[in-house]
Amino acid sequence: MELTFKDKVVLVTGSGRGIGRVIAETFAEQGATIVLSDYNAESLKAAKQVFTEKQYPFIAIPCDVTDEEQVARLIKEIMGSYEHIDIIVNNAGITRDTLLMLMKTDQWDAVINTNLKGVFLVTKAVSRQLIKQRSGKIINISSVIGIMGNAGQSNYAASKAGVIGFTKSIAKELASRGITVNAIAPGYIETEMTHVLDEKAKEALLTVIPLKRAGSSKDVANAALFLASPLADYITGQVIKVDGGMVM
Ligand code: NAP
Repeated sequence: MELTFKDKVVLVTGSGRGIGRVIAETFAEQGATIVLSDYNAESLKAAKQVFTEKQYPFIAIPCDVTDEEQVARLIKEIMGSYEHIDIIVNNAGITRDTLLMLMKTDQWDAVINTNLKGVFLVTKAVSRQLIKQRSGKIINISSVIGIMGNAGQSNYAASKAGVIGFTKSIAKELASRGITVNAIAPGYIETEMTHVLDEKAKEALLTVIPLKRAGSSKDVANAALFLASPLADYITGQVIKVDGGMVM
């Protein structure tokens, strides 16, 4: 079967840089129309430039996923431009790592608001349209940390475990409307988010990865492509780990 996303409109949140940007480019390479979205104006501008140079069909809409009004405007603008939306990748995410005893409430709130509330707000805002269409594929980017936990990342782990519970619940709510909802749990992927790790931490991570390398954003994007394709029509409520075998 040929994987084609021609005539599909794909929203990727946090697609200014990192995994989100590569997911957006990967769908664009397969013929999809992309909605780039990020709250970082500089990243969004850089992504726009790349998409313009490559002549991919796209629009770019700034949006902070923690802000309900901005999210409502995002979906309204997409519908104004295309009248349908087919694939939503809830990717925007942040870390504010520190041990519990040192964690400030604002570090907790920032991570939960972006990584979990953001997924809720975007999914809720788009779901009315998907129900109307009786089709749609929602892909939430979780993390293996949400499955196994990690010292110094209790806020992040809680948010990503929350995304998994949310994914399964919404998969059950929307299944009868022809909408699938799945999560991807990446392991250690080389991006700006993980560049901040020191060499010792990176080496330690490689010792627990059977495939003995960090993942790339493309590895995650390929899983998203599969979940959004007709090949995955009978898959919903699942969590696909893209982690080189780190968590089995
Ligand atoms: P990244 O390089 O930091 O990119 C995330 C993008 O999302 C950035 O452009 C960021 O803007 C943006 N963003 C942050 N908060 C936002 C908000 N409230 N609204 C809209 N956009 C926002 O991170 P990444 O490594 O690509 O991670 C992407 C996703 O994969 C995240 O959900 C992350 O938790 C998950 N993940 C990553 C790894 C990994 O190893 N990298 C592993 C497992 C899961 P700023 O640049 O201004 O922050």
